[in-house]
Parts: sequence; structure tokens; C-alpha cells
Amino acid sequence: MKPYRRRGALWWARWVGTAACVFAVVAFLASLRCEVHLEGAHWEVWLQRGSVLLLWDANPTTRPCRSVGVATTQRSLRDFEWRPEVLISDPGYVELPLWLPLLIIGHPTAFLWGRARRRPLAGHCRNCGYDLTGNVSGRCPECGLTIPS
Ligand SMILES: [Zn+2]
Repeated sequence: MKPYRRRGALWWARWVGTAACVFAVVAFLASLRCEVHLEGAHWEVWLQRGSVLLLWDANPTTRPCRSVGVATTQRSLRDFEWRPEVLISDPGYVELPLWLPLLIIGHPTAFLWGRARRRPLAGHCRNCGYDLTGNVSGRCPECGLTIPS
């Protein structure tokens, strides 16, 4: 047992997964109205048309130094990139439509939420999932829930 671990790995997986899904949805919707552009010496990241586009070039001929740009735009769902594309080369790119990470992360996250609702792990708080091993106070130190003995 690790006495210093505040929360279980599943608790973190659930919330990190949820945060990632919310981020993907927000980024997806935001790309209807704006595009975000990050640029370094050898790479560019674009958030546009419902997807994330990563480009790299080991030997760029002209490239300003690091910059960030946000531009407003008007897009409809028909303009969006729905298919992933990869060109492993130099220069190359990866285009990842946001529905893909949403699907990949959302499915196990939904599963973890369903599981957390149904049956709490033995020896864990049924409210917050805190590990109650060795706890004799009758109260969850994390959320204050009274624990039936
Ligand atoms: Zn608790």
C-alpha cells in the first residue's frame, strides 16, 4: 500500500479522460469560428477545421522565430477535415481530426464513469474513490463521507 497516494489511478484516468474530451469538443467547436497557429523553428501546429495539424521541417528555408496566432474564420462542418492524414517525411505532417481522440479517449472514459457509478472498489470511498485502507475514523478524509462500518 502506498500511504501517500491520495487518489486511485482510475480516479485520475477518469478525470484526465473527461478533461481531454471536453478539450477536444471545445477545440472542435472553436475551430468553426477561429484557427489557432503555433510556430517554432522546425514545426507548426494548427488547430483548424475540426482537426489538429502538425507539420515539421528539419531544414526550413525561411521561418520566423516562435510565434502564436489566432485568426477568426467562418467554417461550416463541410469544410472540416474528417479523415486523418499522415506524411512521414521531411518535411512532413500529421493531420488528426478531433473526433478521433474524442472517440479513443471518450469510450474508455465513459466506461470508467459507468464502472465508478455502479460498484465502488472494496476498501475505497464510494463517493470519491479515496483509498480507505487503514482508516478507522469512520469518515473519509478526502470528502468527509461517513463510512458505514
Ligand atoms: Zn470520500
